[in-house]
Amino acid sequence: MMRCEGCGEILEEGGAACGVIGESEAWGSAAFEYGAVCPVCGCDGFEDCAICRICGEILPEDEVWNGVCRSCLYDGFEFGAGSEYLRSIGDGNSAWSDFVLSRVYGVVKCEDTAFLLDALSEPSADFVCSDGKSAFEAMRLYIFEDWQDYAERTVKHAVG
Ligand SMILES: [Zn+2]
Ligand SMILES: [Zn+2]
Repeated sequence: MMRCEGCGEILEEGGAACGVIGESEAWGSAAFEYGAVCPVCGCDGFEDCAICRICGEILPEDEVWNGVCRSCLYDGFEFGAGSEYLRSIGDGNSAWSDFVLSRVYGVVKCEDTAFLLDALSEPSADFVCSDGKSAFEAMRLYIFEDWQDYAERTVKHAVG
C-alpha cells in the first residue's frame, strides 16, 4: 500500500499508473522517461504505507508494526506487560535494572546495581518516581524510546 505524496491518494500494490516521470533530450529530440505515477494527480512520489488493524488509520510504514500502529500500542500500554518486556531484554536484568534505578529512583551512578535493586522496593504502576511521574508513565516513555523493538516482541498476530 502506498500514499501519493502529491494528492494523498492511497494506492494498493500495483495500483499506480504508468506515466512520464522525466524528460530529456536525445539526438536533438525529446525523450521521455516512464515510470509509476499516481492515477489521480500524475505525481511520481510515493510513500509506503500500512493500515492499523485497531484504529484503521493508514500511516507511513514505519509507524505501523505487524498491523498495529505506534499510538494504539502506546494507548494500550500495560504496566505488567511492560515489566515483563524489560526483564526479557538486555543482558540479564540490565534493561529492567536500568529502568528501575535511573528512571524510577533517579540513581545516577551505582557500583553494585544488583545489590541496590534488591534493597529498593519494586515499583508498581502508580509508584511515584523521583521526578514526580508515575512508574507507569516513566516505563511507557522508557520503552517507547525504541517502540519498534517493543512492538516486535509484544505484537503477536499479523492480520492479512
Ligand atoms: Zn496523487
Ligand atoms: Zn492504530
